[in-house]
Amino acid sequence: MSYKNVVYVSNISIHKEMRKLSAIKNRSEIVDELIKCYGLFDHCRIVESNKCSLEDLLLFHSADYIQCLKRYNDIENTDDVTDELQEFGIAYDCPLIENIYEFVSTIAGSTIAAVNAILDGALISINWHGGWHHAQRDSAAGFCYVNDVVIAVQQLRTKFQKVLYLDLDVHHGDGVESAFSFSKYVMTVSFHLHEPGYFPGTGNISEIGFGSGKGYTINAPYARNISGELFVTYFEQIASAVFDAFQPNVCIVQCGGDIIAGDRLGGANVLPKDCKSCIKKIIDWRIPTLLLGGGGYNINTAKYWTELTACILDVEIARDIPDNKYFLHYGPDFVLDVYPTNSEDRNTSQDLTTNVFIIKDNLKRYVMSSSSIK
Ligand SMILES: [Zn+2]
Repeated sequence: MSYKNVVYVSNISIHKEMRKLSAIKNRSEIVDELIKCYGLFDHCRIVESNKCSLEDLLLFHSADYIQCLKRYNDIENTDDVTDELQEFGIAYDCPLIENIYEFVSTIAGSTIAAVNAILDGALISINWHGGWHHAQRDSAAGFCYVNDVVIAVQQLRTKFQKVLYLDLDVHHGDGVESAFSFSKYVMTVSFHLHEPGYFPGTGNISEIGFGSGKGYTINAPYARNISGELFVTYFEQIASAVFDAFQPNVCIVQCGGDIIAGDRLGGANVLPKDCKSCIKKIIDWRIPTLLLGGGGYNINTAKYWTELTACILDVEIARDIPDNKYFLHYGPDFVLDVYPTNSEDRNTSQDLTTNVFIIKDNLKRYVMSSSSIK
């Protein structure tokens, strides 16, 4: 991919704000540092972002929710959880954080910078600091205080008629799905672990959207410990059928790192090389594509997103981790490789094939009349 066609969003104000998320600590900086130390910044156009405007946030979120974040922006004791905050989901895994309004404006601003690059003609735009797919219109959820993905879709829709959203995070992309469940111009497709008690609990294959958006919501669930081999086949069959039926003008991919084997909150046994082959498939469509981050709760996330960045830029990188500020985090072996776990795969290829069949059938029924889907 040529230099001018790939944009990468990074700056220290994002790192500073993201440090407030205790679940991911210094992840933003660790990721950017590794990608930079592999020399990949020299192969793409680095874009710095700014905080977004109030109007940008209101493209999705309710005025009441945003006003609440503003009101609590300067509060000194962040341990105080009021009923009002709880009502807006600011509690438990989304605690009140210092300068919360600045925080959400910075995160959303980083994704908007990536979107602007696409609106200006870039073919691929990467923001590993975005992808907060659980946030709802009027509440925070699952570490997500702002749904930058929904805001991105709204802005892309000013230029592109049909937006395809593919969510590879191990959790169901519920916030994005609910925002567009009535729309036939935004197709949301979420691949996720679905089992009793697993967050957020939604994302059954039978959830397909409502009204004129019926059929434009796709859920592709799987059981615990899915192997890379099964996942890639599952993804490719569904993604190809979706592309043929929907014929999107632009694509957003949420690449949550918690799908990778060994993630602390995950439950899949997929490796970076497997996701790489899924992403290659999307890149081969040659439509403008926005790549976002998401979950990812150990060092494998940095390895995964580095592999993806190198793959997109078509640059070979060494397996040994280069010296960098966070080098010691990559011990004991200090290599880019991630290994599968020994956990038993609770999926069978037959179960997944049945799901593919149901999804293709829904595509035929609701999305296309003259079928190129077999
Ligand atoms: Zn997740």
